[in-house]
Amino acid sequence: MHRRRLLGRMLAIPVLAKLAGLSTSQGTAQGARLQTRLRPADSGWPAEDHWEALNRAVGGRLIKVQSPLATCVRDASSMECEQLFQSLKNPYFLGDEVALTQSLGWVDAWTSSPSVFAVAARSAADVVATVNFARTHGLRLLVKGGGHSYQGTSNAPDSLLIWTRGMNAITLHDAFVGASCAGHSDPQQAVTIEPGAIWGQVYQAVTTRAGHYVQGGGCLTVGVAGLVQSGGFGSFSKAFGTAAASLLEAEVVTADGTLRTVNACIDPELFWALKGGGGGSLGVVTRLTLRTHPLPPFLGATFLSIKAASDAAFRRLIGRIVGFYAETLFNPSWGEQIGFRPDNVLVVAMVHQGLSQQQAEATWRPFLAWIAATTEDYTLLSKPLIVSVPAQDFWNPAVLASLPGLVLADARQGASPGNIYYAANVGEAGQVLHAYRSLWLPASLLRPEQREGFADALFAASRHWPVTLHVNKGLAGGEAEAIAAAKETATNPAILDAFALLISAAQGAPAYPGVRGREPDLANARRHAGAVRRAVGEVERLVFRRGSYLAESDFFEPAWQQAFWGSNYPRLLAVKAKYDPDGLFIVHHGVGSERWSADGFTRLGI
Ligand SMILES: Cc1cc2nc3c(=O)[nH]c(=O)nc-3n(C[C@H](O)[C@H](O)[C@H](O)COP(=O)(O)OP(=O)(O)OC[C@H]3O[C@@H](n4cnc5c(N)ncnc54)[C@H](O)[C@@H]3O)c2cc1C
Repeated sequence: MHRRRLLGRMLAIPVLAKLAGLSTSQGTAQGARLQTRLRPADSGWPAEDHWEALNRAVGGRLIKVQSPLATCVRDASSMECEQLFQSLKNPYFLGDEVALTQSLGWVDAWTSSPSVFAVAARSAADVVATVNFARTHGLRLLVKGGGHSYQGTSNAPDSLLIWTRGMNAITLHDAFVGASCAGHSDPQQAVTIEPGAIWGQVYQAVTTRAGHYVQGGGCLTVGVAGLVQSGGFGSFSKAFGTAAASLLEAEVVTADGTLRTVNACIDPELFWALKGGGGGSLGVVTRLTLRTHPLPPFLGATFLSIKAASDAAFRRLIGRIVGFYAETLFNPSWGEQIGFRPDNVLVVAMVHQGLSQQQAEATWRPFLAWIAATTEDYTLLSKPLIVSVPAQDFWNPAVLASLPGLVLADARQGASPGNIYYAANVGEAGQVLHAYRSLWLPASLLRPEQREGFADALFAASRHWPVTLHVNKGLAGGEAEAIAAAKETATNPAILDAFALLISAAQGAPAYPGVRGREPDLANARRHAGAVRRAVGEVERLVFRRGSYLAESDFFEPAWQQAFWGSNYPRLLAVKAKYDPDGLFIVHHGVGSERWSADGFTRLGI
């Protein structure tokens, strides 16, 4: 169905362009502003002296982008290529490379492609100059921060890129009041972050060094601006809410080149839209100020891996963990993941906040006792690990590195010792996605009368492919304050009633089209995509209205406007029409993108 729609869209492009008197490959700069974006082969593409002028305006930070993968396309067996493929497993290497993204692509969806030019922005002025240049010359403009978009929305061939990696300053405030907000809001503890910072850097500054809590994401190498605009869930979102809901103020360059400070008191609609409306669609964020919180005394984690001896025993185990979650863990203390695998293994990788070691152990005791009482049915694949640490240590690289197998370090020579990442994320570095689907699950599924049906569906899903409940990515059961703050964001209101986001995904090792011996495995990928679709489908039939987290979702999501934003979409479209009427900022399945061709180069007549 979605493929047919995409095909229809693609076929419509030349027809519409012809009707508009334009050639898709030969647009003029004047026409381009209205109908299409220019490519390097087009006659209106900026001349050398224009690029030089931009380079001067941005302090010499214009880069002619070359992909390191070109070496491998030329000679896949070279030593250089071998080394590159090793480096592609290092998220810090990927993040520091202007031509690359964290995922190398998604089979049948997109392939990571370098821009023609990039501005390695260091200031809002660099961003303003680049936005004005792209708009004036009719170029396709993109923004990249951490580069973690699964949807491939921070890369596009033939484009100009604003790369914010170098903008990563972090400043703490004891009593922040937004511009023009004096008298309207009380001073708050807060942190101002430049958009290219990654969460690992933020946690080290805010928690490890300053002893405060800020709501960010789970993965340490995700970018701040991308995550906040996505909505942004972290391990403890049931307690502290979404990252978007923590936003107190942002600085943003809109399509007209204006640098705006926006908050609840100035440009409140744009401010609201930035809180979950999706990155790359509304402007370029150059600064964010997020509320911070006092740290709870402890943060911690629980890891369990249990194998059932038979399908029937696994189904019973699923029923047991669903009931245990509903009665014991469905509250602001607990977050992260419970996974169900086709080989009848239950994987618990959960985190907790506010609980001491004794309290966390006591929480799990009844469940572990039940497992221990039925050894003929269940085997613990490793010793259960339940750990609480003083909260200030939770993201401390030295403490994390002392726990066996938890984190890996950036192996590059001279890398900062703070450059660590969770070992669990290594599979995602340089991956080629085969499939990714997510589904918000209403808390009603946890009601006693619905639990058996829900456990049946999870079991049926696990026959096709691993599925995981991310219980921190739904706010039901969370703190009232977190839920109230989320209502003031553009994120799909489905998160208010959802107790979890169900995720199922498949990916392959780093691969790239045209690199001999390292091409993506298309047949395997398509088989996996079918299995993921069937797995999520088993649970989907229990859900009345499909909602999906835009940052962790299917590239081919058919009704994406409804799935990502629900009833908030019309309001988001109105903001888009006001601040970016000509569609300078277009990304796949971003707000207003339905009016553009799939490649983001041509405006459709709708
Ligand atoms: C390994 C991994 C783990 C993840 N874990 C989590 C998680 O725990 N919680 C969660 O909520 N999400 C998670 N995500 C999803 C992630 O939050 C989103 O993909 C997010 O958009 C990534 O931001 P980025 O800056 O790293 O990515 P990018 O690819 O650089 O940017 C993502 C989008 O935001 C836009 N953007 C970036 N910077 C700006 C800016 N300054 N102004 C305007 N637009 C901008 C880009 O154009 C792009 O459209 C994860 C993703 C990965 C790959």
